[in-house]
Amino acid sequence: MSVAPMTIPVGDRFARELPELAVKWRAEPAPDPRLLVLNEPLAADLGLDADWLQTPDGLQFLTGTLIPDGAAPVAQAYAGHQFGGFVPRLGDGRALLIGELTTTGGELRDLHLKGSGATPFARGGDGLAAVGPMLREYVISEAMHALGIPTTRSLAVVATGRTVTRETLLPGAVLARVARSHLRVGTFQYAATTGDRDLLRRLADHAISRHHPGAADADNPYVALFEAVIAVQAALVAQWMLVGFVHGVMNTDNTTISGETIDYGPCAFMEAYDPETVFSSIDSWGRYSYGNQPSIAGWNLARFAETLLPLFADDQDQAIAIAQDRLEGFSARFQHALTSGMQAKIGLTGEPAEQAPLMNELLEQLAASHVDFTSFFRHLGRAARGDTEPARGLFLDLAAFDGWLSRWRALQPDPELMDRVNPVYIPRNHLVEEALSAATDGELRPLQQLLVAVTAPYDERPGLERYAEPAPEDFGKYRTFCGT
Ligand code: AMP
Ligand code: MG
Repeated sequence: MSVAPMTIPVGDRFARELPELAVKWRAEPAPDPRLLVLNEPLAADLGLDADWLQTPDGLQFLTGTLIPDGAAPVAQAYAGHQFGGFVPRLGDGRALLIGELTTTGGELRDLHLKGSGATPFARGGDGLAAVGPMLREYVISEAMHALGIPTTRSLAVVATGRTVTRETLLPGAVLARVARSHLRVGTFQYAATTGDRDLLRRLADHAISRHHPGAADADNPYVALFEAVIAVQAALVAQWMLVGFVHGVMNTDNTTISGETIDYGPCAFMEAYDPETVFSSIDSWGRYSYGNQPSIAGWNLARFAETLLPLFADDQDQAIAIAQDRLEGFSARFQHALTSGMQAKIGLTGEPAEQAPLMNELLEQLAASHVDFTSFFRHLGRAARGDTEPARGLFLDLAAFDGWLSRWRALQPDPELMDRVNPVYIPRNHLVEEALSAATDGELRPLQQLLVAVTAPYDERPGLERYAEPAPEDFGKYRTFCGT
């Protein structure tokens, strides 16, 4: 198939409907673009020709210098609470929304570039991104997608041929990211801060139309929008918890209205189960630790509610009462999603609440014995088939675990259910680092092999044993960074 590049149907709906939140902007040309990784199935789903994307024109499209007719690339404005402090003007400092594409299934997707040059929101930043962190986002977001967790996706990473200055000089890259939209709680905070109620209403209507169309039929569509975002965020954070994902920078500008995971900066997967797990080098108080994620999501949703108050009711006290009432639903929804997900992880069905004590006791034992969260549940699947030794071998207090095992086995757990929900392969920190450092030196094979493992995470395959193992002891404590 050949594609006339200028006829790729890229829409400009966000820029047209919400011009106050969009600054028309151009990408900085990449001096020597070179494709590092391309997501061919995703390209096909977006109606893009994977062969063409690899041509010089295709690489210009993926780095933002070849703009199809009708597209109007913009930097998006947003605000955000960063580690609890409000920043009224953040926005895309190093990113561009190229526009909206339509999937083969007829759904709208944002095509967005990260690392495409400084915009008016750059606040002194260079607007660039390095190869390592962009490949990191590619691997982890695609792993999350394969795990069945709502997330932005990665279409391609193109090395620019430009050098980026961080602590050392690094090769630069642009990530082409695909999302249901880039509407964030921070987008609403920005609109609310302008005091322009018409803008706020248009933004809310845009969000309803793109993500929660059922809300349009409610008595108050904006209250229904809030409820819908509570529901998708509660489900999302429960899914994070169930695979040991630590987002690491749950600022309100990184909390989407669609319910997709966004912003793969300092995120990482927990190995030994410990609710206090933190990877981000700047999160010294553990605000965004694994165990704090549900309460932070609730906090971020309260900030979302604040922006919507004028649309909830004319009377402010009444609006606050509505917000509080709906917000109370978050915790129950989250708990339900978490408990039923945990129930599936241990292969049980029936009334989840009745099994909560069994689950909690297991988590206490996992913490006490520093057990690797991911491999434990696969080993437990073997225990459900009668082979208890791999799971038993992970515990220090064997007597306590044996007691738990016999009570659990009496409930006749279903190993097939367990294998469907417990991944074998996650992007483990030592493997991600190994792949990124090789890629930074120009060797892409470890990255490709890691992608083979993590993009089919439930499908155990011979030859991939090392991708299922926790990090060796000498890997040490893992640290991740923001603003890479
Ligand atoms: P993040 O930590 O990725 O959520 O980014 C927070 C804010 O910093 C956003 O407004 C980004 O656009 C901006 N930002 C991060 N890195 C850079 C950079 N190298 N140049 C310009 N802006 C940046
Ligand atoms: Mg961000």
